[in-house]
Amino acid sequence: MAQRGILAVISGFSGAGKGTLVKRLIDEDDQYALSISATTRNPRPGEQEGVHYFFISNDEFEKMIENDELLEHACYVDHYYGTPKRFVEEQLESGKDVILEIEVQGALQIKKKYPEALLLFVTTPSVEELKRRLRQRGSETDEQIAGRIRRASEEVDLIWDYDALIIAYDPESGVEQIRCAIEAARMRPSRNAGLIGTIRKQLFEERGE
Ligand code: 5GP
Repeated sequence: MAQRGILAVISGFSGAGKGTLVKRLIDEDDQYALSISATTRNPRPGEQEGVHYFFISNDEFEKMIENDELLEHACYVDHYYGTPKRFVEEQLESGKDVILEIEVQGALQIKKKYPEALLLFVTTPSVEELKRRLRQRGSETDEQIAGRIRRASEEVDLIWDYDALIIAYDPESGVEQIRCAIEAARMRPSRNAGLIGTIRKQLFEERGE
């Protein structure tokens, strides 16, 4: 039986480039499975049902909450977002590492339910760089950019609840940091309890006890 995968939650400041990092990670290695969220917001141009999100109505979303079909959910800019439970459970069971790209409230709910989850927070090396990347996207007005910076100031104190800080100097280094953090999580004693138990037993046998 495959060892259960790692549940890795990736949050970060808007504009830090977490979408790019997650896409690279998933495209480069099929050890990782990306969870597709459900949302009540409308699709943006180019977004596809079942690829970027499951786009559903408020009623459908509330039904999913009632039926306990979501691992976590949060309201973000007037819309619901949530992680369907079944896919995550199935993939973890089959040994894949599951990546959730979600905002901070959802990440903290996951940590409560799954204390063994790995929480990663993506930032740029400076606020100047964050603003530069937001401007570069060209899709937002100055006012919207200011709104994203304000939101980042509300999120910054929650970084302490995460397990690792990913400093996205560039996409290559960001992806490498995420991989390293996941590999380090695989080395936790709690994930190697069987081996530790066997070694312990053998050591005590050697002592003749
Ligand atoms: P966007 O509307 O730009 O696609 O996403 C807005 C925010 O919602 C992003 O920070 C994204 O990471 C977060 N998000 C996407 N899916 C989920 C989810 O299932 N749960 C939570 N809590 N946040 C999500």
